[in-house]
Order: sequence, then structure tokens, then C-alpha cells
Amino acid sequence: MKIGIDLGGSHIAIGVVNNENKIIEKKEKHLTNEEKRNIKENIEKYIIESINELKTKNSIESIGMSVPGTICENKILKSVNLGIKEEYNLQEKIEQKLNIPTKVKNDAKCAALAENKIGCLKGINRTLFITLGTGIGGAIIINGKLLDTGKYPGIEIGHMIVEKNGKKCKCGKQGCLEQYASMKALKNNLRKELGLTQKTRGEELLRIIRNNKEENENYQKIESTIEEFIEYLAIGISNLINIFEPEAIGIGGSFVYFEDVLLERLRKKIVTDKLLFNNREDLKIFSAVLENDAGIIGATLE
Ligand SMILES: [Zn+2]
Repeated sequence: MKIGIDLGGSHIAIGVVNNENKIIEKKEKHLTNEEKRNIKENIEKYIIESINELKTKNSIESIGMSVPGTICENKILKSVNLGIKEEYNLQEKIEQKLNIPTKVKNDAKCAALAENKIGCLKGINRTLFITLGTGIGGAIIINGKLLDTGKYPGIEIGHMIVEKNGKKCKCGKQGCLEQYASMKALKNNLRKELGLTQKTRGEELLRIIRNNKEENENYQKIESTIEEFIEYLAIGISNLINIFEPEAIGIGGSFVYFEDVLLERLRKKIVTDKLLFNNREDLKIFSAVLENDAGIIGATLE
């Protein structure tokens, strides 16, 4: 058995994963604001206590962790979601306390591995996986293995420049893809165009898009906001297709909820809009299917 841990900004999930990549037992905890103030200590305490308990019933051969942030050789260099700004060696702490081999990987890479093994990209040899949410992350998997980018995290899809002198990105560069084509960018642009407050939730925006009809007052605004989002996303993805020629692409993150209004439109744009070097009418794009389990399962793979 292996243990997979999905670390989030306010939630920790720990699962025991069997040899068929199924979660057979799961423990979860929500971090309170009080606990978040001392996040490292509370993460370590919960992980160690939980695994000590799980260990009594299961023989655990290894631990894997899925972490939202920049990971380099198992060390967390920074994680905005966890509020960690300096290098943090969680792996070493867990290994020392539990004496079980432990690995730490970026959450988008974990999700990609899981979707590749048992999810939407199962059985496909050359795949590109993209997480589309607040930011844009991803992974390239060839014959079941993550593309090796050496000592650097790599595959910074969200920070591909698509606009010279474009919008300023939190990474310090200008014109990064995620400023135009993340779900956050789409939602913010829709709110702005429609005069809605920041509090308007994704579900409400989705409902508005689904009900958008030509006779509606805001039809054109919604239509052009979505079209612009699709254009930028198609440019970013087609650049990757031209380089890697994946057989199929998987997309996760909050994009999944908007699948019915975005996915086919995106595929059409990529395939028919003169963005690709080769004719890729055969290109398949799937929505991720594993939801919250992807982190736990992916953390135990490779
Ligand atoms: Zn950037």
C-alpha cells in the first residue's frame, strides 16, 4: 500500500492507495484560519498522527505528496496557496518522523499522472495535461513518465508569453498566458463586462453563459469575452501541440465545470483556426474525470 496526500490551502486529504490505484481509506481535515497561521506545524502534526494511525492497519511502502506550488527535488520552494514563501523541506521532516520513503510533487503533475494512469487520458502514450483554474499549470507525460525537466520545475504553461508588453503577471513578466486564459481571468472579465461584483460565483457565471441567447441584452458582451478567452487559450495550447504533438489533451481544474460551454469551442478553434503546423483533425481533448481523488492517487505514482 502507498499513502497519497493532497495538500491544499485550507484542506488536507490523506488516502491509502492499493496496487490497483484505488483509494481504500481516506482521512480529511479542513484547516481553520487559526491553524493556517501556523500552517507548517499543523500540516506536519496532522500528517504524522494520521499516518501513524493508518500504519497500524496497513503496511505502507511509501508516501507521496501533492502540493500546490513550485517543487524542486522534493523541496517546496514556494507555495502561494499554502502561504509559504521560503524553501520548506516537508519531505525530510516526514521521512525522519515516520521512516517511510516520501516524495513531494507539484499538484498539476500529480493530477496529470493520475488522469494518465486511470482517468481521462488512460491508455494514451503521449499526452499533455493542463490544469485550468486560478492559474494554469500542467504536465507532459510520455509513455507514463513525466517529461524530465532536470532540476527546474518546468512546464510553466501559464507563464508562456502570448502578448508582448501585455498584462503584468505575478511572476514578474508581462503578457503571460494565465493573465488571459485562466478560469480566473475568464470569470473576472465576465464580471467586469456584466457589471457584476467580485462576489458573483462561478456557478452563477456558468448559468449566465448557458442562458446566453442572441435576443438577450448582454449577448454580445458575453460572446466576445468568451471568444477572447478561447482565442488566447487556443494560442497557448496550439504552441504546445506544435512542439510536442500530443495524441490527446486532458484539462482539469475548474474548467471541468464549464466543459459543456467551452470544450468543443476550444477544440474547434485549435483545429480549424490556422494555429497548427500539422493537420490535427484527430486531436482529442478530454475533461479530467478524477476530481478530488486525482491529487491523492497521482502523488503515489511514478
Ligand atoms: Zn507569469
